[in-house]
This record gives sequence, structure tokens and C-alpha cells, in this order.
Amino acid sequence: MNKRVKLWDRYFELFLSEEQIHERVKAIARELNKDYLGKRPIFVAVLNGSVHFASDITRFFHDKCELSFVKYTSYQGLQSTGKLQRLLGMQENIFGRHVILIEDIVDSGLTVAGICEELATFEPLSLRVATLLYKPKARIHPIKPDYVGFEIANDFVVGYGLDYNGLGRNLSEIYRSV
Ligand code: 5GP
Repeated sequence: MNKRVKLWDRYFELFLSEEQIHERVKAIARELNKDYLGKRPIFVAVLNGSVHFASDITRFFHDKCELSFVKYTSYQGLQSTGKLQRLLGMQENIFGRHVILIEDIVDSGLTVAGICEELATFEPLSLRVATLLYKPKARIHPIKPDYVGFEIANDFVVGYGLDYNGLGRNLSEIYRSV
């Protein structure tokens, strides 16, 4: 039987191991190293879920870059409320800059579509999205991430930054709800 964890009232089973995650993160970083060499991009990580992904991606990016954070919310427990609310904006000026938005997971696409819309008003030179996880079947908003770690089914997952009501972010692996 797969390794399991219990968070609050729910059980989750092992879905992606630490090795599988690191392999994909390194592969994405290799692409970013190629695509952004000499361009001094600014990585904009979406808190809280993308904290491990952003940290690993930027450590594997070997040229000059900047890292900033934004925070939005749309989720409560297992459900998206369908409304995006900004909790923390960014200070950096992204006009004329190459921006890479770092997300943990694209589900309906509401969050990434909304954040991209906001960032685009500051007129970056380019704006791309890197997400560790992508649920293409859940997508409602027209958003196609440029860099994807794993395409996954429409399951609720936790670990490697992703939480269930605040718990599970510290897990090194990714687990899915059973
Ligand atoms: P979207 O706006 O694309 O529907 O959802 C994006 C946000 O919802 C993510 O940044 C993440 O915080 C949360 N989310 C979506 N799916 C999951 C999931 O399977 N597990 C967890 N823990 N959060 C999710």
C-alpha cells in the first residue's frame, strides 16, 4: 500500500516522490537557464504554495535574476470560492522586465489568469508562467502555462508547499486525497 498521511480529517496517499519532483524541477530550470540567459528575469512567486518550488527553481537558475512574492487567495478548504483577492502585492517595478510567474498549481486557472492580468498592466517586456502542477481538466480560464512540472488529474493534492487548511506544506513529497 502507498505511504499515507492524515491531515485533519482526511487521508492522503503518496503521489509524487521527492526524487520525481526534483527531477522535473531541475528539467524546468534547465529550460529557464536556456531561455533567460543574460536577460536578468524577475521571478514572481505566488505565496504560500509555491514557496518550495520557487526556492528550488531559483537555486537551479545560474544567471542573474531577482525573486519577489505576491499573495492572493481564492481557496477555502478543498473548494475554490471563485473570487480572487490580493493579500500582498509586489514592490518591484516590472516595466520592461522579463517576468516569470511561479505557481504551485494551476487548477481552474482563475488565480494565474487574474495575477497575469494585473501584472500585464505594469507592461513587462515578457510574462510567462511556470507551474509545478497543472490540472488541464479543471481549467476554466484561458491560461496555458509555459513551463509545467506535471499534468495531473482533477484530484486534491498536498505537500511540497501545498496545504490542506494550513497543514502539509512541509511535506517533501506530494500526496493526493483518497
Ligand atoms: P485556481 O485559481 O487555478 O483554481 O487555483 C489555484 C490555487 O488554488 C493554487 O495556487 C492553490 O493554492 C489552490 N489549489 C488548487 N488546486 C489545489 C490542490 O489540489 N491542492 C491544494 N492544496 N491547493 C490547490
